[in-house]
Amino acid sequence: MKINVSNIPEGGINLRFERNGEWFQQRLPETGSGGFVLDRAGVACAVRRMKENVFIEGSITTAAEMPCSRCLETTRLSLQSSFHYTFAPPPSLPQEDVELSATDLDFAYYEEDVIDLDAAVFEQILLQIPFKPLCAESCRGLCPHCGANLNATSCDCRSEIPDERLAILKQFKAQP
Ligand SMILES: [Zn+2]
Ligand SMILES: [Zn+2]
Repeated sequence: MKINVSNIPEGGINLRFERNGEWFQQRLPETGSGGFVLDRAGVACAVRRMKENVFIEGSITTAAEMPCSRCLETTRLSLQSSFHYTFAPPPSLPQEDVELSATDLDFAYYEEDVIDLDAAVFEQILLQIPFKPLCAESCRGLCPHCGANLNATSCDCRSEIPDERLAILKQFKAQP
């Protein structure tokens, strides 16, 4: 979705659109394309303009499937986010305070009268993807010894020497 700044009416506009998982995949750098699958994403936003500055407020609703970081089972997570952006034309002269504002996540420049809303939506969805997704807070993960999924089964490994003591022993032995 691209917006021509000069086409935004006085009273602003409200937009609703959808993006699918394929759209998302295409924007990912190839190295990061594994790991999760995104559902259809619904975007609703309000676009307002004050002179050449544009303010966009909106929300994104989607879901993603990815492996749980503890037990590796495929997990479906619903993702919701609201965002607001301020878009400004690029400064005509280099200014000292430009660097400061350009590092602000909610601030971006547009070029040649066009705002690329897709780029903003993509960024917002990425921010919602958890670094360590869990199927449940209580997920017990895999046994580090035999690999059994401890949510579904139990194993006998736990009755062996507690890891904590083993770690202390190793630490002790490592000292000169
Ligand atoms: Zn899990
Ligand atoms: Zn085990």
